[in-house]
Amino acid sequence: DPPEELGADKARVRVVVRVRPMNSRELERNDRAIIQMENDCSLMVQGAQHNRRFTFDSVFQSDSTQEDIFQNSGIKRLVDMSIEGYITTCFAYGQTGSGKTHTMIGPGGASVFRMDENYRIKHFGLVPRAINYLFQRLREKSQENHSPYYIRVSYCEIYNEQIHDLINPAHTQGLQIRGSVEDGFYVENLFQTYIETMDELLTILEEGELNRAMASHNLNDTSSRSHAMLSIQVEQDITESENSAEQMTRQGKLIFVDLAGKILVQQIFHEKTSPIFHSTGSEKVKVSLSKGKQLIETNNINKSLLTLGTCISALSDPVKRAGHIPYRDSKLTRLLADSLGGHGITLMLACVSPSHSCESETLSTLRYANRAK
Ligand code: ADP
Repeated sequence: DPPEELGADKARVRVVVRVRPMNSRELERNDRAIIQMENDCSLMVQGAQHNRRFTFDSVFQSDSTQEDIFQNSGIKRLVDMSIEGYITTCFAYGQTGSGKTHTMIGPGGASVFRMDENYRIKHFGLVPRAINYLFQRLREKSQENHSPYYIRVSYCEIYNEQIHDLINPAHTQGLQIRGSVEDGFYVENLFQTYIETMDELLTILEEGELNRAMASHNLNDTSSRSHAMLSIQVEQDITESENSAEQMTRQGKLIFVDLAGKILVQQIFHEKTSPIFHSTGSEKVKVSLSKGKQLIETNNINKSLLTLGTCISALSDPVKRAGHIPYRDSKLTRLLADSLGGHGITLMLACVSPSHSCESETLSTLRYANRAK
């Protein structure tokens, strides 16, 4: 059964939105800011044609700090629950350039780790803050009950429905998923490493970013088309009761997923046999120019995003939750099946630009996030 404190099923999924500030290019062009905050939970998109209101669990304005997001997004609860033995997942979602990396890792991605202490304290993103908190909580707990803990990390990328190891790229060819919906799925031969300090985790994140970039000719290209999954397994040896000598290991997991920035806006079937995909703005896939491979790739990215949306939305509906959940339809959802469908909780962090030039991507991101609620 789900933990009592969760209450309604809806509490399993928390959806928050962060609006980034205008960037220098948008400011120079005198772009119009189209996102109006209504209160801490709702915002209005003042579009060229219509205004649309959206309500989420929290909305973070463009002046919010990294510490605000850490304290108020709900991530601390995910960390606490992973220590209690649950599997929890935090997704970052939004078009390329909307602030996913900034929010999750820090400005400029892993380069933030090479800055001085003061800079890092201010600019660290959600992942390093969450891990810092995880270490702190585990240390406290282990002092209380004299039990050791272990943290095991793996980092992989799903690109075009293929899984690549981001820590040990030599082993990337053809990693396969094994397991079942009942027992959970895992990536066979995925490298896992124990870490004891924050610095070790930062090194992994840096290497992962490098390996992610090397897999493609162009960093933006790969990060906008692939899903990166950082999995942090928390293990503790616990003794059942004071006078029992019996030990058991409690295992929880904290997963961070940086979702591909490519968004499917509309799926139009002009002819029964040939699906045509429309995307917008910077993520545009010109159907007339798409070569077969590119179309398949777009298709695959959309498929996992679409399947993820379908799974999350079905899971947050008590009736549908009891029925068939299509985890098997994409690699991403298969790997997250035990997290999404189990007793853990999910945090969806949607990032958007305030500019009118991003209106259709922003609406598409907010609609996707809205569906997850
Ligand atoms: P994404 O990962 O979604 O492609 P980035 O995180 O790389 O986007 O963000 C694009 C640019 O905007 C980066 O230069 C980043 O530092 C900046 N940026 C994003 N979010 C914010 C924010 N909340 N405050 C200040 N700058 C931001």
